[in-house]
Amino acid sequence: MKTLAVLGAGTGGTIVANRMRKRLGKDWRVVVVDPRDQHLYQPGLLFLPFGRYEPEELLRARKDTFRSGVEWLRSEVVGIDGEARRVEFAEGEPLSYDLLVVASGVRLRPDLTEGLTGPGWREKVFDFYSLEGASALRAALSTFEGGRLVLNVVENPIKCPVAPLEFLFLADEYFTRRGVRDRVELVYATPLDAAFTKPQAAKKLGYLLEEKKVHLVTEFMTSEVDGAAGHLRSYDEREEPFDLLVTIPTHSGAAFVERSQLGDELAFLPTDPHTLRSKNIPGAFVVGDATDLPTSKAGSVAHFEAEVVCDNLLLAAKGEEPEPLFDGHANCFVETGWGKALLLDFNYETEPLPGRFPTPWGPFTLLEESRRNHWGKLAFHWLYWNALLPGRPLPVEARMSLTGKELPQETTEQPERAEA
Ligand SMILES: Cc1cc2nc3c(=O)[nH]c(=O)nc-3n(C[C@H](O)[C@H](O)[C@H](O)COP(=O)(O)OP(=O)(O)OC[C@H]3O[C@@H](n4cnc5c(N)ncnc54)[C@H](O)[C@@H]3O)c2cc1C
Repeated sequence: MKTLAVLGAGTGGTIVANRMRKRLGKDWRVVVVDPRDQHLYQPGLLFLPFGRYEPEELLRARKDTFRSGVEWLRSEVVGIDGEARRVEFAEGEPLSYDLLVVASGVRLRPDLTEGLTGPGWREKVFDFYSLEGASALRAALSTFEGGRLVLNVVENPIKCPVAPLEFLFLADEYFTRRGVRDRVELVYATPLDAAFTKPQAAKKLGYLLEEKKVHLVTEFMTSEVDGAAGHLRSYDEREEPFDLLVTIPTHSGAAFVERSQLGDELAFLPTDPHTLRSKNIPGAFVVGDATDLPTSKAGSVAHFEAEVVCDNLLLAAKGEEPEPLFDGHANCFVETGWGKALLLDFNYETEPLPGRFPTPWGPFTLLEESRRNHWGKLAFHWLYWNALLPGRPLPVEARMSLTGKELPQETTEQPERAEA
């Protein structure tokens, strides 16, 4: 009997395990490892602080997310011995594997910023990237009657890089509905030199920040947080005062990656950008936020990568070389408030472009706000549990398509598909 081991049963790991259970023969075990009992629908954390979801709506028992025949090992991985092809745990026997997928996501690291978890933590300093943080922030927002709310991204990369902007757009709507918007100053302090990384999208998103009167502070590299005094400091000695701080802390890869010295300085795993094969663990592929790839850390990316990894695992099981099928495809709905959203679709080579998605007639609008996009974002919650995680096909291809996109003049001769 051969073994495919999948480390981490979040978005990427669950899709891979469920798909591979269907595609591999009975001579293969599919073993997925994750210590946590519940699976969290992370995109819902954006809405939780504004009272639009209850925490229990975002959680499912992990045992119910696997197809029959997938074996779930409820343990925490503490190391990988790549040469011996073995996964190690704090307790119990190591797990030997023939093929491996690392899908262990990111760890939030507020501990890496001086003062961040000191006085004021979860009193006037909050994150919303964890269930505990988003729930505590919800209580704080509901009693916030006015003052300076600063949203600060400490360091990139972060998962869902548009989520900080979405939070501010929703905050504008939330405080307006509560009748206190004129007493709340909204500030976005980012290490980037614009609202977003991609110039086309940054222009559009920057314009929306202006329209919603969110003050943008760029190139702000946070060195220290003083929760008691209520200010952030940057390495170039700038200071931003706050009454309420919403922080997106530094992200790093899993602790076992750091311990095994397999990752880069933030413990992200060196990964081939097109085959998704690990560059330093024999017989392994990497999926989702755990990679060091220059595309967004997002559920959509984890999904597209999972499809490519499944094809390449089948090739590897036959002793064949993996194919360079991944093109960096990312697809993100950006909630802009008041029941609207815009949509970004891009890959390693192609910037987000205007147009329609996924067909030339839509129904979704690229780089343009619409109600349909908002409903698409909300509908994704149902699709996540019922189609995406079980590994059912969705009407969006793993590789980015140019169908429906309005190409800049000089590139209109491009073929239908962007090359990787
Ligand atoms: C507020 C917010 C909003 C978001 N909105 C969107 C959105 O609208 N669209 C979108 O596409 N994406 C969104 N995302 C991002 C998306 O949720 C992640 O990018 C996606 O879940 C990544 O999948 P993953 O499988 O790589 O990691 P995860 O889903 O995080 O799973 C990692 C798993 O690994 C497990 N693990 C960790 N360490 C170990 C260990 N030592 N041993 C065993 N298991 C371990 C964890 O328990 C976890 O289950 C959002 C994220 C946040 C926080």
